[in-house]
Amino acid sequence: MSDSRPHVVIIGAGFAGIAAAQRLANENVRITIIDRQNFHLFQPLLYQVSTSVLATDEIAYPIRSFFRNNDNVELFMAKATGFDPARNIVETNHGDVHYDYLVIASGATTNFFGMANVEKYSYGMKTLQEALHIRNHTLHMFERANKMEDSAEERRKMLTFICVGGGPTGVEEAGALCELIDIQRHEFHNLDFNEVQVILIEATDKVLPMMPEELRNYTVKTLEKKGVKVMLNTQVADCDADGLILKDGTRIPSKTVIWAAGVRAHIIASRLGTECDRGGRVVVNKDLRVPGFDNIFAIGDCACFVPGEGQRPLPTIAPVATQGAQVAGDNIMKLIRGEKTLDVFHYHDKGSMATIGRCEAVCNVGPFKTGFMAWCAWMFIHILRLEGFYTNITVLLKWGWNLFTGVRLGRLITNIDLSDAARREQNEPEKVAIEKAEAANKAAEEAALAAKKAQEAAIAAAAAAAELNKK
Ligand SMILES: Cc1cc2nc3c(=O)[nH]c(=O)nc-3n(C[C@H](O)[C@H](O)[C@H](O)COP(=O)(O)OP(=O)(O)OC[C@H]3O[C@@H](n4cnc5c(N)ncnc54)[C@H](O)[C@@H]3O)c2cc1C
Repeated sequence: MSDSRPHVVIIGAGFAGIAAAQRLANENVRITIIDRQNFHLFQPLLYQVSTSVLATDEIAYPIRSFFRNNDNVELFMAKATGFDPARNIVETNHGDVHYDYLVIASGATTNFFGMANVEKYSYGMKTLQEALHIRNHTLHMFERANKMEDSAEERRKMLTFICVGGGPTGVEEAGALCELIDIQRHEFHNLDFNEVQVILIEATDKVLPMMPEELRNYTVKTLEKKGVKVMLNTQVADCDADGLILKDGTRIPSKTVIWAAGVRAHIIASRLGTECDRGGRVVVNKDLRVPGFDNIFAIGDCACFVPGEGQRPLPTIAPVATQGAQVAGDNIMKLIRGEKTLDVFHYHDKGSMATIGRCEAVCNVGPFKTGFMAWCAWMFIHILRLEGFYTNITVLLKWGWNLFTGVRLGRLITNIDLSDAARREQNEPEKVAIEKAEAANKAAEEAALAAKKAQEAAIAAAAAAAELNKK
């Protein structure tokens, strides 16, 4: 049965995409949300998954569940790969989708600023999978260090956790890692916790740049009190499997580098071929449309909106995404009604907040600026923002339980390789190491022999050629 209602296609079910779909769900339109995954992710709490506080299903929510009462909203689980705007088509890995109005809300990914080794050896924190990798790896490092009795150097490397980036993600991750370490302290009876270190590295002279100076200073002091070594004005040059190399040549030995130093828009946003900023964000008009396209909007982290002449673009944060979604939705309805004048996006900054581990937060909004009450305010706001009543309850219980008992039951390593080879490596590490060294030696010997043979063959061939020439 053909549907004559205007078809709005939204790429991305993050804060922007979900808010846009919710704004339009009760209108006489048909909505298709295209997302490569079937859940909406509450990114601000990713660090709590990576540090074993929360489980994955407490910060992710099925996209379809948002719209169970809206039969005009459909999810198409696919990856958008390109556009054919002349035919109003979004191309995906599962076929084309036709739209009347398009909202690009594909968000952002980690920006490694072109440093291939940093990308290879550090951990990003933009997806649920990455948060799980960090959790698994961090916990695994404690288990390995616990048995690394004969090399203090190796052990310290395993017990040094570096967060790069002094924005909310880096600060919150560093604070939460300290809490995790405090819990491990009670259960790893053989480890010397003086060897455990959390380092926060920031290229500029400040953490939490959106906060006033007093709150920034408070944040640094609180982190340091918790045991974090804060290194400001420190630039990263390279990274390898054994640590981080700074611009001044210093090496910080570590097996764990968490990269929270920048974001760049997902590549799909730039595929319309219009102007993008340095972070790959599509530069949009005041009404949030992509220049040159009457029926295409870009919102959230993938859009670059400059509020006024000479001003900085709006930051990549959730309120910008959700407020932009309202305006894009309103403007789509105006276009459908045939109105010529669209709304201009005015962002209302309601302030920001960040936690610095358990019982500590900074808020530049509301009456409580720092400390326990600021942390309670942070908890309250985040509980309200999480999707689903069940989640609200379980998260509240977990945070309460964690507050009073200091226990984190989520410390599970879930990516253990159970193959025979891996099991042997776990059970007989010395034997396996010797076998590996022997195998490497044998391979090197064989390679040397092959090289020698090749050299002999080349010499023989040269001699034969010379003989032929003589004749
Ligand atoms: C660790 C962390 C902590 C943060 N903390 C805060 C905070 O405390 N406060 C705050 O305000 N903001 C915070 N942010 C930023 C905030 O989460 C983002 O600004 C917000 O998620 C942006 O929403 P969005 O809808 O634009 O993008 P996203 O939420 O990133 O959603 C984009 C969606 O698009 C989908 N997608 C991407 N590419 C494709 C494709 N090609 N095809 C199909 N689907 C695609 C993705 O799967 C995703 O579902 C934090 C971010 C991170 C990573």
